[in-house]
Amino acid sequence: MVSGTDLAVGELDAEAASAQLEDAGAVEILRWAIASVPRFAVTSSFGADSAVLLHLLSTVDPGVPVLFLETGFHFPETLRYRRELVELLGLRNLRDLKPVLTVAQQAGEHGGGLYLRDADACCEIRKVEPLNRALREFDGWASGVRRDQTDERADTPIVKRVTREGRELLKVSPLARWTAQEVEDYIDRHGLPRHPLAEAGYSSIGCAPCTRAVAPGEDPRAGRWAGSAKTECGIHIELPGDAVPLELSEGSER
Ligand code: SF4
Repeated sequence: MVSGTDLAVGELDAEAASAQLEDAGAVEILRWAIASVPRFAVTSSFGADSAVLLHLLSTVDPGVPVLFLETGFHFPETLRYRRELVELLGLRNLRDLKPVLTVAQQAGEHGGGLYLRDADACCEIRKVEPLNRALREFDGWASGVRRDQTDERADTPIVKRVTREGRELLKVSPLARWTAQEVEDYIDRHGLPRHPLAEAGYSSIGCAPCTRAVAPGEDPRAGRWAGSAKTECGIHIELPGDAVPLELSEGSER
C-alpha cells in the first residue's frame, strides 16, 4: 500500500495510489487520505446521498473539516438536514464557504436570476470560486462523487492529482465504485436520516432554482439544471491548469 505519511503531496504518485486503492473499502480510503494528505477536508452538499460519506467520515475522524458551499440558494430543507446530520454524526468542523457576493449583491451587479441566463457564471461565483479559495488551506479533499452518477463521472479515479490556483492537490473519491443501490442499502442499514425532499422525488439536490423532482424512471440527475445542457456545476470537473478567474460585467451573458 502506498503510504503518504512521509511524502509531500506533490511527490505522491496519485496514479499508483489510486490503483492500489481501487478495491479498498471507503473507510480504508478515508484512512489512507487522512494519513497521506497533511491538510485534508471533505466536501458535502448535504444532498440526497450525502449521509453516507459523512457517516463514514464520522467513524474515522469526525474532526476533519467538512466544507459546505453556502450558495444562498439552498432549499430550507437542505439547511435543516445539514444541522441534523452534523449533530447526529458529531461532525466537529463544519465550514460554510460563502461567495464573495451575497445573493443581493450578485443581483445588483449581474441582474437577478443569473442562474436562468447563465448558470455556469452563477456556479462560478457561488461554488467554484469559493471552493478554490477555501482549498488554499488544504492539500487535498474528498467528495462523494460516484462513477454511476453520470457519463462524465464514469472514469472517476479513487485518487487524482488536480491543480487549483497553481497548486497541486489530491482529490479523493472514496465512493467512486459505489452504486446508487449500495448507497440506499448503507443508509437503510445504518438508519441514517434521509434528506426531507428525497421522498418527494428529489434524487439529486442542489440549489433550489436549479433543482426539480424527477419522475419514476427518469435519470436521477435529470432534475438538475433541467431543460439545459448543463450537467455539472464545475467543482467536480478538472480544468486544464488553473481555473480562470471569472470577470463579469453588469448584465453579462457569458
Ligand atoms: Fe447558481 Fe444554480 Fe449554480 Fe446554484 S446551482 S450556483 S443557483 S446556477
